Amino acid sequence: AQFARNKSKQQKKTLNIYQTGEDEPYLRTLQVSAAIPDAIKNEKFTLVYQPQVRKTDHQILSCEALIRWQDPELGFVSPAEFIPLAEQSGHIFAITQWVLRESLQQIGKWQKVLPELGLSVNLSGADLAEPGLLDVIFSALADAQVLATSLTVEVTESAVVNDPEQAIEQLTKLRAAGIQVAIDDYGTGYSSLAQLRGMPATELKIDRSFIMHLASQETDKTIVQSTINMAHKLGLKVVAEGVEDEDTAKLLASYQCDVLQGYWFSKPLTVDDFEQWINKE
Ligand code: C2E
Ligand code: MG
Ligand code: MG
Ligand code: MG
Repeated sequence: AQFARNKSKQQKKTLNIYQTGEDEPYLRTLQVSAAIPDAIKNEKFTLVYQPQVRKTDHQILSCEALIRWQDPELGFVSPAEFIPLAEQSGHIFAITQWVLRESLQQIGKWQKVLPELGLSVNLSGADLAEPGLLDVIFSALADAQVLATSLTVEVTESAVVNDPEQAIEQLTKLRAAGIQVAIDDYGTGYSSLAQLRGMPATELKIDRSFIMHLASQETDKTIVQSTINMAHKLGLKVVAEGVEDEDTAKLLASYQCDVLQGYWFSKPLTVDDFEQWINKE
């Protein structure tokens, strides 16, 4: 039944593309998709880093690497646009390898000044199906001289649904090596609680959609507060994403949410801006 449900969901998605009646978005999709191999080959991507801060004193603990692609012809291509296309075309693992190497090199440099600074990197479901993933991560760590315990991999609940056994096996090996595993966008996936039970996770990132209206929505307060309590009972660290104002930051701190991330503290920053931000803090 679960398979049938997934399938009908996918069919609906496909239909939507054709039902828009506009050629333009579809054309853009084709162009972006076609440009991905060249963007990989010629390293046209850059990374920005968004600080993650401690709930109490807002000290920086870690940062999340987020990919950016500014193309001379296509303009700004957001990751929400091209990551799914790279997944479909089988190019995502090449991108992930670049992100891992690049961000770990950068963290290696920053750790000379901030030895405790952590790094989070987003993985796609398709990456978890790659037998070479562990070797890639371990060699990127070794080359950058960064400890495994500094690295967190972020996976969404949906990243695990395609081949849960294989995905969980890989994540378990990463955990055994000291790498942290975060469940990204928690609460938005299919059957979040069931997913949680089988995941070798160390951290739970509550999705921005629950945080956005937190200060004004009683339902969201209840959901977020009980999610934090549940996560703590399961031994998980909790991160809130999309914290955009002081009221929300204060509420989350009062709920004992461990780590806060969002525009209120900082947008994702280029290397230069990140260094300036650190000096200022
Ligand atoms: P995500 O991993 O959940 O990343 C958080 C997204 O929320 C980022 O969008 C970030 O810029 C945005 N954000 C952070 N704080 C706030 C806030 O206070 N308000 C609002 N409105 N937004 C905030 P971004 O960089 O556009 O990335 C979107 C998604 O693309 C990411 O969601 C992730 O799923 C994917 N992604 C980004 N970089 C990579 C990557 O290197 N590899 C993979 N596989 N996926 C990536
Ligand atoms: Mg993430
Ligand atoms: Mg997220
Ligand atoms: Mg998200």
